[in-house]
Amino acid sequence: MTLDTLRLTAEEARRLLDAKEVSGAELWSAYADAIELRDPELHAYLHVCEDPGGDGLPLAVKDVIGTRGIPTTAGSKILEGYVPVYDATVVANAKRHGLRVLGKTNTDEFAMGSSTENSAYGPSRNPWDPSRVPGGSGGGSAAAVSGGLAPWALGSDTGGSIKQPAALCGHVGLRPTYGTVSRYGVVAFASSLDQVGPVAKTVRDCAFLYSIISGRDANDTTTVDVPAVQLPEGEELKGLRIGVPKEMNGAPGIEPGVTAAVNAALELAESLGASVEECSLPRSVDYGVACYYLVAPAEASANLARYDGARYGLRVDGDDFREMVMRTRDAGFGDEPKRRIMIGTYALSSGYYDAYYGTAQRVRTVIKREHDELFERFDVLASPTSPTVAFPIGAKIDDPVAMYMNDVLTIPSCMAGLPGLNIPCGLSDGLPVGLQLVGPQFGENTLFRAGHALERALAFDVVPERLRG
Ligand code: GLN
Repeated sequence: MTLDTLRLTAEEARRLLDAKEVSGAELWSAYADAIELRDPELHAYLHVCEDPGGDGLPLAVKDVIGTRGIPTTAGSKILEGYVPVYDATVVANAKRHGLRVLGKTNTDEFAMGSSTENSAYGPSRNPWDPSRVPGGSGGGSAAAVSGGLAPWALGSDTGGSIKQPAALCGHVGLRPTYGTVSRYGVVAFASSLDQVGPVAKTVRDCAFLYSIISGRDANDTTTVDVPAVQLPEGEELKGLRIGVPKEMNGAPGIEPGVTAAVNAALELAESLGASVEECSLPRSVDYGVACYYLVAPAEASANLARYDGARYGLRVDGDDFREMVMRTRDAGFGDEPKRRIMIGTYALSSGYYDAYYGTAQRVRTVIKREHDELFERFDVLASPTSPTVAFPIGAKIDDPVAMYMNDVLTIPSCMAGLPGLNIPCGLSDGLPVGLQLVGPQFGENTLFRAGHALERALAFDVVPERLRG
């Protein structure tokens, strides 16, 4: 049987395996063949694995997630040659369900970026148009899923790295509630924000993968028990109250084609029985990005201090320890981590700590409260995920602030610790537009229900137009 990996969902692959219509080996080689065919163009993978055997579903894993015996670089030269001796909890959980790691996917260095152009190993490309970025930092997982090079994947999201690439590549991605998925064994970027989450073609696949990876982990004390995951089935939205923050829809800087696709999806939601009402998140949107770019670099500057040439990966020798550390960091870190280490170190330095980091933490509390207030009236908040569709490679790489603004719509809910789901909702200029649904803390099941019903009604074809047979 020939398998169309561009269309095959994890759920359908599972059914074929259970019915013995395909073997585990056949399923694996369908993806291995697709990778051989299309990865030279897309560069979704940094490392491709051998089939470990068995009949579990293949899974692509973002390269910031530690995998035992499989190189893990976080897209950085400083981790070149690092092979973890243990699995991250999310990978251990996946393996316990029989899943097989297909390979490690490309990422901006230490997950810092919105396009994968900050990867030390070169950018990934968007399967809809290879001259454009797939988004970032999880562009490798996104390109793998949209390009038919994996049925599903794990990503990580600090300020938008699951949701934004899903929007730009036209598939589903969930950033879970902070604390529902273990960070143990995941290369740390900004610990109060980092969350691993599922990347998939459908909301049901996304929900199923979330059920596999989530839950309390003794090795990560920020994790909690999560409500049982309900695989969504319903096709209506009766009683669902959707709030649309006006600063996040139709605002300046958001492409008209993006607004149009999102508004059409909201009209569809109303026809399925939801109520849609405008609301406001004034401070969250105004201050979210600025606040994030103090908190995230501050935490990153502490987390990245461990790369010293002694413990992991790269070492550049020097006459003494200090010189060795300096040379290793100079050669091993790219521009973006260096920029963030400097910003973060400055923001945490004595005399400036309260003015910068302290203020950012207080603003973060304001953002959290603004969201809490809206969830007294609404079940979900809807907006575009990204203000633009996929942009050409090179278009923003020399302007860090323009790059940071890619996440203006994803960052506020991340700062508030809230879950967010991207589903594709249409095209603008032939490129996918993503709808972001944000829920209250632990509101994943509501997001799945809403996302699934909308996905069915929208009937968006996730196979990139130029690859349709
Ligand atoms: N683009 C954002 C950044 O550069 C978010 C990245 C992420 O979520 N890992 O920090």
